[in-house]
Amino acid sequence: MVFFLFCSKDEDGEYVGLATLPNQVQRKSVKKGFEFTLMVVGESGLGKSTLINSLFLRDLYKDRTLYEVQEKVYQTVAITKKTVDIVEKDIKLKLNIVDTPGFGDAMDNTKSCKAVVDYIVCQFEQYRRGEVRLNRKNIQDNRVHCCLYFISPFGHGLRPIDVEFMKALHEKVNIVPVLAKADCFTHSELQYMKTRILNELNDYRIKIYQFPECDPDDDELFKKQHLEMKTRIPFAVIGSDTTVESNGKRLRARCYPWGAVEVENPAHCDFVHLRNMLVQTHMQDLKDMTEDSLYENYRIVCSLRSKMFVYYEDSALRTLHEQIKKQRTTEIFYTNVFGELQSAHIVSGGDKMDNEYRNKGVVLMLWLISVCIHEIHIQTGTLN
Ligand code: GDP
Repeated sequence: MVFFLFCSKDEDGEYVGLATLPNQVQRKSVKKGFEFTLMVVGESGLGKSTLINSLFLRDLYKDRTLYEVQEKVYQTVAITKKTVDIVEKDIKLKLNIVDTPGFGDAMDNTKSCKAVVDYIVCQFEQYRRGEVRLNRKNIQDNRVHCCLYFISPFGHGLRPIDVEFMKALHEKVNIVPVLAKADCFTHSELQYMKTRILNELNDYRIKIYQFPECDPDDDELFKKQHLEMKTRIPFAVIGSDTTVESNGKRLRARCYPWGAVEVENPAHCDFVHLRNMLVQTHMQDLKDMTEDSLYENYRIVCSLRSKMFVYYEDSALRTLHEQIKKQRTTEIFYTNVFGELQSAHIVSGGDKMDNEYRNKGVVLMLWLISVCIHEIHIQTGTLN
């Protein structure tokens, strides 16, 4: 009876109304709203704030503190998060911008990458803990879906900190490399820089965000847009807080004594491609990649680790592990002694360490230690 109530027939035969499923999903998603977390990383002055303001047409950095150079020398990376609600034609987007002021600015930047890695892992961990709770209704999802990494236009390709950062993060977040202040390049310089960056990314085996392949049934316009976007990576961007009037239209541009560079003109830079990718075409894919690949890898590693810990608690295994550890330490000690003997020409360079040399080495080391102790006693006048 119920079956007949929901089934109807159309001209071609039976019809259950599957075609309305996408509408249901759409209605629900629109009601719930969308959320996206974008991280921006790069040293200060590369135009990050200007680009974010230009991308989302907001002034997100009104209350920002700019540090003096002396303060920057010892500055550490601070991670800040700003949230802005964007509504356009009844579609709500909660946009989280995670900024990393201080990145790459200090004299010693060894800890710059660690601060960002720790932040990203911490968001994964927070989500994982939320997932295993009994009540998952209020689960906090602060996972970073995309990281715009700003490459300086003033170097010759990637700098060591760029490589270090991307290598540390490429398996934890979708990295989209961005070539900052592209108006600093001539057309040929820009092509050279892009090729160089791509080659270096390849040489260092850095995995940046990969666009998914198009489906054969995708429409031609989408395929064309997709291909165009792919060839623009790394996106060469220009940002501006000002607008100019041109042919009766207001345009976002940077004005120079010789003319203006239009931010949204694809002939001038890749700003539009970047914005289309982030908002119009690949936002959901970036989120899916985070959920299905990056977070999933993290979750698997965590679960394997905790399983190994359980096995380790098993006393027979623990004893075995302790034995291996002890054996290894002894091996390292013997190898070091043997190395010392070789460099002091007590054994020849071609000799291999065997039991005989192992014994000789230990006796010699003990003898050397006793000689040293004797010498110290003589120097300090404590010899009996
Ligand atoms: P942030 O410290 O990385 O956030 O950099 P800002 O956005 O504060 O920009 C630093 C300076 O660079 C400002 O004077 C901007 O006007 C300027 N700037 C921003 N974007 C560009 C750009 O695309 N080209 C050029 N030439 N200058 C830019």
